[in-house]
Amino acid sequence: MPTLKHKFDINETVYVIRCRSKEVREPCPDCTTVSLDRNKFSCRGCASRGYIPHWVPDVWMIDGPYTIGQITIVKSRPREHYKALDEVRYMMHETGVVSGTNYNELDLVRGEERARKECARRQKIDDEKKALQESSST
Ligand SMILES: [Zn+2]
Repeated sequence: MPTLKHKFDINETVYVIRCRSKEVREPCPDCTTVSLDRNKFSCRGCASRGYIPHWVPDVWMIDGPYTIGQITIVKSRPREHYKALDEVRYMMHETGVVSGTNYNELDLVRGEERARKECARRQKIDDEKKALQESSST
């Protein structure tokens, strides 16, 4: 059986690339399309807020530097229609070891300069996706 390798080691310094989401409010289709006094009637679709919140990826950013304190290798079994997605997760001294935030290996980068580049790369992909969606919806 092949052993799963981990890219980073205990006490290594890494940066985390993460995406901050923003809330987008979509008008509730149940109660904003009809004229309804929301003070008198309650809407189950939106809990009478008048909108439905969605969280969408917005800005990529860098956290850290962090020091790796724990490495967890998660092996998954392939299931019907799904292939096994093995994962290496890390916990940092700064954000809590044993109990704290888990970071996926795919989001960790060695060195601030490389972290910046990776951050910019992901932002560019997202921005291009957004531009495509906007141009296709108009
Ligand atoms: Zn509603």
